[in-house]
Amino acid sequence: MNGVRTRVAPSPTGDPHVGTAYVALVNYCFAKKHGGEFILRIEDTDAARSTAESEGSILEALAWCGIAWDEGPDVGGPHGPYRQSERSEIYRRYAGELLAGGQAFYCFCSEGRLHEMRAAQRAAAQPSRYDGLCLSLSSDDVQRRLAAGEEHVVRLRVPDDGVCVVSDLRRGSVEFEYRSVDMQVLVKSDGMPTYHLANVVDDHLMRITHVFRGEEWLSSAPKHLLLYSYFGWEPPKLLHLPLLRNPDKSKLSKRKNPTGILFYRALGYLPEALVNFLALLANAARDGEDELMDLAAIVRRFEVEQVPIGGPVFDVEKLNWLNARYIRERLSPEALLDRASRWASGRARFERLAELSAPRIERLSDLAPLLAFLFSGRLVLEREDLRCPKLEEVEVRQAFVLAMSELDALPAWDAPGIETVVKRIADALGKRARDVARPFYVAITGSRTSIPLFDSMELLGRDLVRERLRNALALLGPPSKREQEAWELLLAPASVPA
Ligand code: GLU
Repeated sequence: MNGVRTRVAPSPTGDPHVGTAYVALVNYCFAKKHGGEFILRIEDTDAARSTAESEGSILEALAWCGIAWDEGPDVGGPHGPYRQSERSEIYRRYAGELLAGGQAFYCFCSEGRLHEMRAAQRAAAQPSRYDGLCLSLSSDDVQRRLAAGEEHVVRLRVPDDGVCVVSDLRRGSVEFEYRSVDMQVLVKSDGMPTYHLANVVDDHLMRITHVFRGEEWLSSAPKHLLLYSYFGWEPPKLLHLPLLRNPDKSKLSKRKNPTGILFYRALGYLPEALVNFLALLANAARDGEDELMDLAAIVRRFEVEQVPIGGPVFDVEKLNWLNARYIRERLSPEALLDRASRWASGRARFERLAELSAPRIERLSDLAPLLAFLFSGRLVLEREDLRCPKLEEVEVRQAFVLAMSELDALPAWDAPGIETVVKRIADALGKRARDVARPFYVAITGSRTSIPLFDSMELLGRDLVRERLRNALALLGPPSKREQEAWELLLAPASVPA
């Protein structure tokens, strides 16, 4: 196959997810197997939710996995820039082309009107779809309203009838009736493109030949194919990959299971084991084949036709088994020591640790018990350890539940931000912050004496903190659905950071 180019296009809106590594790996393997290029593009058109921190972690996480990109925001390349926020001019030009050709139109409908329209459609059990009101505006009207500076968006024109056939490499032809395809917003009122416009324009300009992405985008494919045909471009080949599942077949989500790539690094998994594990989800081992294989072997044997379309199960037991095999079979004692010490030094910033520990130790040997929690996986705790004099058990559970969602929403992961969250929770429960901090201390560090709580949480990282709170909650009894909903109301929405 000539000139194969694939890409992964994550949105930098959170911690890098193992699903992103899975999608990246499938794209990487296909490109490399065919002597092609693999591109990393950052889709940060959602300015409010995108952060530089998240982008940095995505690059770090994929690089740690060993999934190397040929072009990307850090290494550049002939089709850059590779960050969508730096490509606004390009999207503006293409949106202009569509508007000029009548394949897109200005829409001045207010949020209020759209809201009513959707409610009416719901009541009539119709698909939610823009009703086309602004399509009937005369061009004079449009010009007048634009000149008056009226707020507007640009929408995709979608035929009223007919069928769009999406051909998916594994699912075959999937049909969508146009009347159920929304007249998608292509340019938002702030002038930024939406994912749909930017994605199509970029895949074309970056000469992407194959798009393998999550199945949640399958229903968007008709919009994308319409755009390709309006522009007169050949669409890439499409494959929609199933989402990874928990062993109970529910969608893999961080509420139930750790999903962050960097969580697995923090726990001391080897990247080659994680990648090997993900590769087996894409292409199971064949008869008689050893499941342990390095990236070169993974690429060599990769068959896109074998990628399952039923959700593969992210089974941590299997990952543990593979990781253990790597440790036993692939690392010499020297290599193991070397890996362990590099891992440990990556776990924490030693200067900061020294500064925080010095006032709390008498001898160097006191350091190990003081800091052990930073280098441990699951802590061994008893329910009694979490008992605390100033809080009822139910209040401790409330505090943990609130913290889990509030900490997830923190835009930056640092001690002052974490402290604000714990204080807000204390206020909501009508307790002193010091008293509320106590059970957190035990849940996070496993002891009552360690370095200060908020620094500990910062150093441990968001994923491990979430996991420790979840484990502590499991000991005390996780909240019922009713409790969860009621407790979340304890914090006024206005106090949630933007
Ligand atoms: N930015 C999208 C995401 O993060 C990319 C989807 C695609 O690959 O087209 O899921």
